[in-house]
Amino acid sequence: MQFEILAKCSTTRARVSRMTLAHGPTMLPTFMPVATQAALKGLTPQQVEELGITLMLNNTYHLNLRPGTKVLDAAGGAHKFQNWRRNLLTDSGGFQMVSLSSFSKVTEEGVLFASPFTGEPTMLTPEESIRIQHSVGADIIMQLDDVVSSLTVGPRVEEAMLRSIRWLDRCIAYHTATDSPKTQNLFAIVQGGLDHDLRDRCLDEMIRRKDNISGYAVGGLSGGEEKDIFWRIIAQCTAKLPGDRPLYSMGIGFAEDLLVCVALGIDMADCVFPTRTARFGVALTFDGPLNLKLTRHAKSFIPIDEDCPCPTCRNRVSRAQLHHLASHDTVGAHALTQHNVVFQARLMAGARKAIYSDTFPNFIRSFFSRYFGGPDDGYPKWCVDALKSVGIDLLEGEEGATRRVVEGDGAKWEYSDGVV
Ligand SMILES: [Zn+2]
Repeated sequence: MQFEILAKCSTTRARVSRMTLAHGPTMLPTFMPVATQAALKGLTPQQVEELGITLMLNNTYHLNLRPGTKVLDAAGGAHKFQNWRRNLLTDSGGFQMVSLSSFSKVTEEGVLFASPFTGEPTMLTPEESIRIQHSVGADIIMQLDDVVSSLTVGPRVEEAMLRSIRWLDRCIAYHTATDSPKTQNLFAIVQGGLDHDLRDRCLDEMIRRKDNISGYAVGGLSGGEEKDIFWRIIAQCTAKLPGDRPLYSMGIGFAEDLLVCVALGIDMADCVFPTRTARFGVALTFDGPLNLKLTRHAKSFIPIDEDCPCPTCRNRVSRAQLHHLASHDTVGAHALTQHNVVFQARLMAGARKAIYSDTFPNFIRSFFSRYFGGPDDGYPKWCVDALKSVGIDLLEGEEGATRRVVEGDGAKWEYSDGVV
């Protein structure tokens, strides 16, 4: 992997970089769509490529069940199997073992779970996870970690963190063995729950293994924890992790979460949210999400977004048509999925462009103002606090703009420079 930092924001920790993998370059920060079973639901890989996506995620657990490593080996890997020419990242499979299996038990050896098809006990070890990921052939592969819910408290969190470090060593040993593919890049996953001391210990240990690690992910978040704790853990990790490696925040997909994470120094993120919400009839826009199932769109003959370059908007498919389709036809899901994938890509491209021209704080302020309808409609407090920690004050108006002043238990508007 070649990782080059091309620009840095002079206010926040945001940066633009180029990550060159075996299947070409990917500009960071980026959002990776999730193609669970070697396909992004509703789109062909060719369509995904045409949308400009250069890196997507496949789930190891699902690929191992179907088509299985024998078929993948015969096909020459998941790129060839699904006819995807750009970069691919695979997760370790551990997360689905725990979340999808009705029975799973973590031992020092690995994760023991019941096969969803036969009920038979199956063991996923760190070595087995890397072996499967070698068959899949993704450009970026993830260590097997001991995943606990972010709401778990007590000694189990420390145990999982320490085990994730030991399992990282086993993944490194298996991956760096002489007969292993050399074009695949191993990422470590920082664990430690919502506890800053545990995170710190995990960071120290994983940074010590830097020579065998191509990038770092922050895991164990986005599981329903308080957002105020979420951003502080992200900020703690990005502050300490080596700046010469890509940093990946797992399971993040809301626009405001992505931009806050980018401001805190995150380069990559993934989530099923944009494509899943499309299948529920929701289009993502810079004015906030649009639920096309609502009857108020039944006579709206404009596209979702006049400025959007996605095939749906470019072909001027109307909101009324999408409203009609969303409720009873897969064509609607297909059209909205294309739009939402492009929305995420545009959001990240906008961030990259702003970082390049060193106008990222302004980009963030105008995004929040438009997306949330201005501060009077309420910015999420955690976003305000997180951005303030890296030098962006969302509530402080720019010259000539309005500024909110809170007095006592009420709030009033005043103009920052006397303009009425
Ligand atoms: Zn569109």
